[in-house]
Amino acid sequence: MIEATNLTKRYGDRYAVEDLTFTVRPGMVTGFLGPNGAGKSTTMRLILGLDRPTRGSVTVNGRAYAAHRTPLREVGALLEARAVHPGRSPYHHLLALARSNGLPRSRVLDVIDAVGLTELARRRAGRFSLGMQQRLGIATALLGDPHTLILDEPLNGLDTEGIRWVRGLLRDLAGQGRTVFVSSHLMTEMALTAEHVVVIGKGRLVADTGLASLIAES
Ligand code: ADP
Ligand code: ADP
Repeated sequence: MIEATNLTKRYGDRYAVEDLTFTVRPGMVTGFLGPNGAGKSTTMRLILGLDRPTRGSVTVNGRAYAAHRTPLREVGALLEARAVHPGRSPYHHLLALARSNGLPRSRVLDVIDAVGLTELARRRAGRFSLGMQQRLGIATALLGDPHTLILDEPLNGLDTEGIRWVRGLLRDLAGQGRTVFVSSHLMTEMALTAEHVVVIGKGRLVADTGLASLIAES
């Protein structure tokens, strides 16, 4: 469970997010919807402890992450800024990460298989299509078998089949009781992916609602 209380982040004299209070529950996919620049990535960075709130707080299962690195066993994240080094292969990248987090090598093979990258496992990630890079990012997020997943625009760059695949994966992960928080700027994609949505605009909470009521209102 993710709980944000009056979460606020200011850069200079501008508020990137202001007074966000919302809850993301386990066992369902929660969408984080808002146009570009609304504050979605900022909020996700605050949840992960990659940035500090100016005011307010955010916790994951009661814990506030302050360190630069969130434990992979607790929270898996896909953030654009966390791109894989272009010279590394999926196997190399994931194995290094598994080692530094005390995870067994078998996890690396499991997640490579789970995202369909087995044939590309030894190729340089720098040459991958955006869709394949997204799959590698998702594999990275899944590596520690975390209870919480924070995915920033995971559908970007995927083709129709890839989008369908990610949707199925997110539903499976939520169905296992995990907390799954997924951002998108596309309303229709969220409508097909999430059961609950948190909507922001210009850094402020616009709605926190079940999907049916959001569609009814629009
Ligand atoms: P989204 O992910 O919804 O596109 P962001 O969280 O990236 O939105 O951005 C929200 C606002 O905060 C934007 O106006 C953006 O320019 C600003 N912002 C984000 N990160 C920084 C930063 N490191 N320094 C200054 N402004 C930032
Ligand atoms: P470096 O090795 O460059 O100092 P890190 O060890 O912090 O950087 O992270 C290396 C890579 O590990 C990041 O690019 C990111 O892909 C991944 N990573 C680290 N922590 C997480 C996490 N909690 N969730 C998802 N990926 C992570």
